[in-house]
Amino acid sequence: MPAERTPYIAGNWKLWGTRAQAADYCERLLTLLPDSTRRRPEVGLCVPYTALETVSGALEGSGVVVAAQNMHQAESGAYTGEISAPMLLEVGATAVVLGHSERRQLFGETDRALSEKVPAALEAGLQPILCVGETEEEREAGDMERKLRHQVQEGLEQVADDRLADVVIAYEPIWAIGTGKVATPDQAQEATSFVRALVGDRSKDAAERVRVLYGGSVKPDNAGEILEQADIDGALVGGASLDPDSFARIVAAAE
Ligand code: PEP
Repeated sequence: MPAERTPYIAGNWKLWGTRAQAADYCERLLTLLPDSTRRRPEVGLCVPYTALETVSGALEGSGVVVAAQNMHQAESGAYTGEISAPMLLEVGATAVVLGHSERRQLFGETDRALSEKVPAALEAGLQPILCVGETEEEREAGDMERKLRHQVQEGLEQVADDRLADVVIAYEPIWAIGTGKVATPDQAQEATSFVRALVGDRSKDAAERVRVLYGGSVKPDNAGEILEQADIDGALVGGASLDPDSFARIVAAAE
């Protein structure tokens, strides 16, 4: 990857992390990461809403990005159970995962809603991490590109060209998430380069600068070969991020 794109390793805790667990995790992680002045990759943690304040407090000054795992596009209104960008900012989040496949598959997240969430996050000052990816059936049917085109185009539709590179895009093949079935480096490179080309259809400059991550069963022992691919700028890590030691080893693989 070109030097102007800072590698990015983000851990996604999913439904894990009471405040006590979160505090303990952060304390351990900080002993394992190089300090922020020597650290390249950028490191992020995507944590449940209830842990955001604890995590942002525990990691203050460390340079670790603290992200929520979802957000509503409106600032306020009749949306019971939802959380808005200003609420996330208030508890210390600076980023937000949008369109994770678990939200799409289990909770009805749509590309239409994401086309509003991504610009809403940017306007509020949150870094959106937009997740895209195909199912196994779609890949086998030769439909991967059509699916990615639709998700990327719609997710970025209302983002101005000069803000496209502020979005982080995570390519996460659904068949590789939580399954232990990691995409081969070639498969991951092919899909991430396609995602970058889709951004390039909007702006060549943004395509050079936008960071595209790979996600799907990344572990310390497979991170290196994935991260060395030309169009892969980092990883979104689920299961392996729950152990600070294995997460820190993945961060080290990106150094
Ligand atoms: C994820 O949650 O985005 C993910 C990629 O999970 P896992 O690493 O467990 O496959």
